[in-house]
Amino acid sequence: MVNAVVGANWGDEGKGKVTDLLADQSDVVIRFQGGSNAGHTIINNYGRFALHQLPSGVFHSHITNIIGNGVALNVDNLANEYNELVERGVPAPKLLVSERTQIVMPYHILFDCYEEERLGKNSFGSTKSGIAPFYSDKYAKIGFQVSELLGDLDELRAKVARVLEVKNATLRTLYNKPELTVDEIMETLLKWREIVKPYAADTFEFIHEALKQNKKILLEGQLGSLRDPDLGIYPMVTSSSTLAGYGTVGAGVPAGSIEKIYTVTKAYSSAVGAGAFVSEFFGDEAEELRKRGGDKGEYGATTGRPRRMGWFDCVATRYGCMAQGTTDVVLTCLDVLSYLDEIPVCVGYEIDGEVTTKFPVTAKLNKAKPVLEKLPGWKCDIKGIKTYNELPENARKYVEFIESKIDHPITMVSNGPSRDSIIYR
Ligand code: GDP
Repeated sequence: MVNAVVGANWGDEGKGKVTDLLADQSDVVIRFQGGSNAGHTIINNYGRFALHQLPSGVFHSHITNIIGNGVALNVDNLANEYNELVERGVPAPKLLVSERTQIVMPYHILFDCYEEERLGKNSFGSTKSGIAPFYSDKYAKIGFQVSELLGDLDELRAKVARVLEVKNATLRTLYNKPELTVDEIMETLLKWREIVKPYAADTFEFIHEALKQNKKILLEGQLGSLRDPDLGIYPMVTSSSTLAGYGTVGAGVPAGSIEKIYTVTKAYSSAVGAGAFVSEFFGDEAEELRKRGGDKGEYGATTGRPRRMGWFDCVATRYGCMAQGTTDVVLTCLDVLSYLDEIPVCVGYEIDGEVTTKFPVTAKLNKAKPVLEKLPGWKCDIKGIKTYNELPENARKYVEFIESKIDHPITMVSNGPSRDSIIYR
């Protein structure tokens, strides 16, 4: 049985917590896309962790964690995160890396930085983790799979030399930066070869064998629907598909095998990086919510950047849930809103004088103004509440209002950052 945890919005919805929670009942947790450009915050008995590269099942010693073939693997980050966990008392996780996973090369990170610098005020707000250059190379068919890193060294060297011809031409002529040598790249690759070797495996066969034995597999998405290169707010998107449907490709599970798709959304909105964000608000009001948000305020888990803040966006979230093929919505951070007298919710977009509830293409989205409806707040602490009926009436009304607007069932409500702060409906 395969389930997936994915995001409905711009990322940072609280997927890490939900994955950590659902991982309890899973045998295998698989990351299927993205790289170390976003972080999941997980708080459990071992402490507070920001995972970027490792799957969120690493805190459970019964789980096999897999870096799927769709992931952008940053080997140094993988090693650092793994070592940090062990140093902080987490039992050494079971980890497998698909032999088909490709590696973020040293020049991918350089090119990400140089390109953002070149673009200046038109930059994408990249985390400069090399993700866009990595996926560009993957689809231009000049990427490096783990299998190549572990294979014949002469072949590896020859391919590095071929790829560097193009990279150096760009460094020289477009960016006016120092060129790279085959020797320096090979030195790094030889170091990475030793790091990756113990984890590399034919995960495709492993996963299919696990399915035959009725094991429970959890696919873990990074970012959210609106950052998908096809269905998101192109071009302010990420470079790999963030959708559960792609999980079947990026993890290598059969297309029809996903049963439950848990789509996570926050009770308000936040976004990191550039791009349309219709329900965004600013000033002191935004700063107040930013400070109170998440477990330590709404600041990027990878970059520490202050996140942009917005009210809950029913238009974007309905669309985001549809794009994921959602079976269950998990609404997180409801506790964060407890201080507000009234809570605005974005229920429509006004574009050129017309109101719509359908999420538009980017050109129209950039013109959209939010249509807000205000719901009464509940003005009391709801952390620690364990059952839905114990929530104050206005909190329940808020959940039910959102549910009716996004057209998908909210089956779990999260009312605190820790694993046990969860209310099942
Ligand atoms: P992810 O990338 O989707 O995993 O999201 P992040 O982990 O970057 O951001 C979510 C933030 O919200 C983290 O700081 C979590 O610890 C925190 N969080 C998750 N669920 C809740 C919740 O129900 N209440 C509160 N207050 N914080 C939560």
